[in-house]
Formats: sequence, structure tokens, C-alpha cells
Amino acid sequence: MGGTFDPVHFGHLVTAEAAADLFDLSVVVFVPSGRPPHKRSQLVTDPWERYRLTELATCSNPRFRMSDVEVSRPGYSYAIDTVRSFRSDYGEQAEFFFITGADAILEIMTWRQIDQLMAECRFIAAYRPGYGRDHLREAVACMEAFSGRIHLIEVPALAISSTDIRQRLAQGRSVKYLLPEPVVHRIIETGSYR
Ligand code: ATP
Ligand code: MG
Repeated sequence: MGGTFDPVHFGHLVTAEAAADLFDLSVVVFVPSGRPPHKRSQLVTDPWERYRLTELATCSNPRFRMSDVEVSRPGYSYAIDTVRSFRSDYGEQAEFFFITGADAILEIMTWRQIDQLMAECRFIAAYRPGYGRDHLREAVACMEAFSGRIHLIEVPALAISSTDIRQRLAQGRSVKYLLPEPVVHRIIETGSYR
């Protein structure tokens, strides 16, 4: 499960759990992006702080793991480099699924070395009930070479986004129940996003 996680929230966690459940995944590895290439023009919180928050959010789930490959790697973070590094760690027999939100799938053709990436892993793309499902299905069907490698899953009740959480925090509004309590505590303690 890749993302900027700026900060991590229940949308990410519910999606990861739903994917693990439906596809019977042995583990879900959360990989905070070091420098997201698609957010070049945007100010992003320090990678290790985002990593720490994601770690706090995931540590109570025995199926969730953390990886620092992207925060440790210099330069922009590309999924293909990460999946190759996982391939060398987990071996040729391992089966990989890249878990994302539907918004990412719509942009996937712009990802670096997308053919190689699709050959290395399948994609699980989460969408909200009733939200653009038909549009999404059509879009995926158009990516002919890849459509068999992309699985769409419906995930309930997820209007939560990091952008909205950052705005609330900047305005001093409550973010309770949008993200795990230990993450909220650390954000308040460190004063990030004020
Ligand atoms: P931002 O608002 O800063 O873009 P975000 O909430 O979209 O943040 P990201 O870190 O950009 O979070 O997302 C990481 C991955 O999780 C992406 O693939 C994204 O599509 C997915 N995702 C984000 N929010 C949700 C959600 N509420 N439900 C399901 N998937 C989500
Ligand atoms: Mg996003």
C-alpha cells in the first residue's frame, strides 16, 4: 500500500484491511513515499515524520507491516523501484498486489515504466459505494493490456482525505475519528500541520 500518508487516516487503513481480507493477503506493507513525483509543486511533511505516524497507525494490526525503502531512497519515489526491491527481498514466488485508491488508477498510465510495473504486480483499486464505479470500470476497460491486472473493490464510507485533515488541523478544528487516536496525539504533540 503506497501513499504520501500526509497524514495516514482511516481511509487508508480500511482500504488496506478490505484488500487483505478479499484477496487473502498474508501481509500488507505500508510504504510511505519519500518524495512523491506527482506532488512536486506541493509542500509535503518530512518523510520520516509521515513514516512515524503511519507506523503508529498500523502497529496494532498483526497483518500490517512498514517499509522505509522509499523514505530511505534518495530522489523521487517510483513504484517500479520499490516493487523491484520487494521482488529481491521476497523472492520470485511472491505474488504482489499494489493497493491504491481509484484516483490513482485513473492516472496510472502516467506512472514510470508502467508495463514493467504491471508485469511485476497486480493492482487493487478501492472506490466508494456509488462513487464513479461505472466511469472507473470503463476507464479500466480502456487500458486493454492491463485491465485483467486491475481489480476494483468497493470500500464503505470513505470521504476521508489527508487534504481535508490538514485543512482542519490548520484551522484548529477537530480531526477526532478521522484517524487513529495515537496519530492524533502525536500530531498535537509535535505541532505538525498547524
Ligand atoms: P491527499 O489528500 O494529500 O492527496 P490522500 O488522502 O489522497 O491525501 P494519499 O496518501 O494521497 O492520501 O493516498 C494514498 C493512497 O490511498 C492513494 O492510492 C489514494 O487513492 C488512497 N486513498 C486515499 N484516501 C482514501 C480513502 N478515503 N479511501 C480509499 N483510498 C484512499
Ligand atoms: Mg491523494
